[in-house]
Amino acid sequence: MGEKPAGDTVTLWLDGRKITAAKGTNLVDAARAHGIDIPTLCYLPGISRPACCRVCLVEIEGIRNLQPACVYPVREGLKVHTNTARVRRARRRMVELLLAEHYRECPTCIRAETCELRQLANRLGVREVRSLEELPARRLDNRNPFIVRDYAKCIRCRRCEAVCRNLQEVGALAAAGRGRETVIAPVFGRDLGEVACISCGQCVTVCPTGALAEREYIDEVWAALDDPDKFVVVQTAPSIQVTLGEAFGLPVGTIVTGQLAAALRRLGFDRVFSTDFAADLTIVEEAHEFLERLEGKGELPLISSCSPGWVKFCEHFYPEFLDNLSTCKSPQEMMGALVKTYFAQKEGLDPDKLVVVAIMPCTAKKFEAARPEMVSEGRRDVDYVLTTRELARMIRQAGIRFKELPNEEYDAPLGMATGAGVIFGTTGGVMEAAIRTAVAITEGEARAEVEFKAVRGLRGVKEAEVMVKGRPVRIAVAHGTRNARRVLDRLKAGATYHFIEIMACPGGCIGGGGQPIYPRKDLAFDYRRKRAEALYRLDLSKKVRRAHENPAVKKIYEEFLGHPLSEKAKKLLHTTYTPRGRVPGLRPRAAATPPAADAHSPAPS
Ligand code: SF4
Ligand code: SF4
Ligand code: SF4
Repeated sequence: MGEKPAGDTVTLWLDGRKITAAKGTNLVDAARAHGIDIPTLCYLPGISRPACCRVCLVEIEGIRNLQPACVYPVREGLKVHTNTARVRRARRRMVELLLAEHYRECPTCIRAETCELRQLANRLGVREVRSLEELPARRLDNRNPFIVRDYAKCIRCRRCEAVCRNLQEVGALAAAGRGRETVIAPVFGRDLGEVACISCGQCVTVCPTGALAEREYIDEVWAALDDPDKFVVVQTAPSIQVTLGEAFGLPVGTIVTGQLAAALRRLGFDRVFSTDFAADLTIVEEAHEFLERLEGKGELPLISSCSPGWVKFCEHFYPEFLDNLSTCKSPQEMMGALVKTYFAQKEGLDPDKLVVVAIMPCTAKKFEAARPEMVSEGRRDVDYVLTTRELARMIRQAGIRFKELPNEEYDAPLGMATGAGVIFGTTGGVMEAAIRTAVAITEGEARAEVEFKAVRGLRGVKEAEVMVKGRPVRIAVAHGTRNARRVLDRLKAGATYHFIEIMACPGGCIGGGGQPIYPRKDLAFDYRRKRAEALYRLDLSKKVRRAHENPAVKKIYEEFLGHPLSEKAKKLLHTTYTPRGRVPGLRPRAAATPPAADAHSPAPS
């Protein structure tokens, strides 16, 4: 091929082809870069390579035993064979062994379409599973409202543990036992709802099998839709309009806003509202809260509170910063509260017959909806939360041909949104939206730029300075709780910030634990960036791009709330937080609020 080895690269032979690879690269990555997909069920580039699934075995000339490619580094002159009869036999045997002790129920499994184990068995030509043992007994952990664990489908790949520990720096999962008895689970055999898990669902998105899945509420939502006595309102989070299409084979970053509204109507929802509207409202409340705190009324820095995974992370690991959290409920909860009060009054509906369903990017929103604080006038704000994946399943169950749907509009008034509400779905979006409004309010419309690009992009931590009320304001943006730790530790060490945005998931909601599962082997493709770019395109397409200029938001203040931070707004749209134990299962003695909702399901409507 004529490539010359440079100082930081090596030359080796892959299946008889001469290739170059950067020093330190492992054989899986080197082979993928040259068009050979060595299978693996445990390796996660940049996060984990425990070499425990033994599916990536390759033959290396001069070495007797087959070697796991995920931990074998490239070396000068290495001769690697990835597709010999011995390699094929060994890989097939490894997958067969995994299947032999696996609770196999593919036709009814929640991961039937995206299961890597199933796909790999098929790809390798495993046609029978020879086993003298009975299938393992089913053992489900489903005592929390967000994630279900099915231990009989766990292949002990340890991806979940690695993501939780290395990517999120939470450490809610650990391996216990040895060999075939190893179990990867919360400590002391507890349920995820009983330990310091932030319910983000990142473990679900990397699990190759159906051992981890969101807790489904599809049947409950069908029941509400089938009940003639119920009026069922749905809201969709900003990111759903740029991710749902993937579940129907559309390219990453396809905007499907109009088809999404059409699909929801065909499913039978009585009103189709947009959480983007509530995001605009959140920004108006939060921008005013920030300006108040700048005047000395409250703690600085103000830290955003719209990501429930981040809020729970703060409650567990940094309770000393709970007073810094914005008291604003998340847009999901604001919408729920307004549907059951403002909208019910306006339409003359009995709020007890209203059911609010939220289509959300993450499992943490299920936890949030079940929190005891998320109740307004005695009613739960949101009754059921479905992830993007669950909505896609409902659309398929109904036989709706998604790609053929026409573009339809969301319903007024709670379906009207500005570009500011749209960009809430990506890291930096909340900050940019808040700055758009805060600067316009204090510096005047003429001086306020709409776009604030310093906080865009997927860098783990972004910092910038902006003038608000004639003074320099230092801001920071972090996504993924590992990066949240970096910012909070800087803060503890004396760094000065006035406003911080934190989202629990890498990339923000576009990378949420409830989004369509992206194939792990294709992770080199930056799917989060594509999804974020789609949100910015949507923002650009909007006539109104500042939250406080949303006509429906203005109207709701005129007709119902009065003004930002009014008594009514505080009662319906703001909340409190609960310090929780760092040690799994232990609550801090000073906890003043009622026990958390960890072990509860969302209340039925
Ligand atoms: S996890 Fe995969 S292999 Fe196991 S039952 Fe589900 S689809 Fe089948
Ligand atoms: S939901 Fe998040 S915090 Fe909980 S176990 Fe999974 S990755 Fe860890
Ligand atoms: S739960 Fe899933 S990700 Fe975790 S070890 Fe089991 S199979 Fe792997």
